[in-house]
Amino acid sequence: MSNEESTNNTIAKIVASYAARSDVAPDDIVELIAKLKHAFSAEGSINASTANERTDKPTPALPISQAVTQNQVFCLCCGKGFKMIKRHLGVEHGLTEGEYRKLFDLPESMPLVAPSYSDKKAAHAKKVGLGKYHRDIPKLDEAYSE
Ligand SMILES: [Zn+2]
Repeated sequence: MSNEESTNNTIAKIVASYAARSDVAPDDIVELIAKLKHAFSAEGSINASTANERTDKPTPALPISQAVTQNQVFCLCCGKGFKMIKRHLGVEHGLTEGEYRKLFDLPESMPLVAPSYSDKKAAHAKKVGLGKYHRDIPKLDEAYSE
């Protein structure tokens, strides 16, 4: 495995110098890492890279460009998907959203709540506002407030 370690070191050095440029987007870096790993594994240990694909990897658990889908946001620490990962980060990894963003160099524009989930919340709020919701499920606090 020392061969793989030196490969990772080489990749890290290349990526670090590339990332130092000001015009580089996070997606570009992710893509670069993937390309480098592919290039190095094709050169050296083809079998090892496919066989060990599912073992623990330090960072990140999946490409950042794939960490947000319509229905889920995936934790880059462990690869699990959630509607919102803020609580998971605190409970499982002891991280705040800010620390998490720093850890993986996530852009501010990257959502940590699934887009469909925030849509639903907005839609739900509208429903309640129109007064249709509490006809089906009366709630005490809603009855008081209206
Ligand atoms: Zn996690």
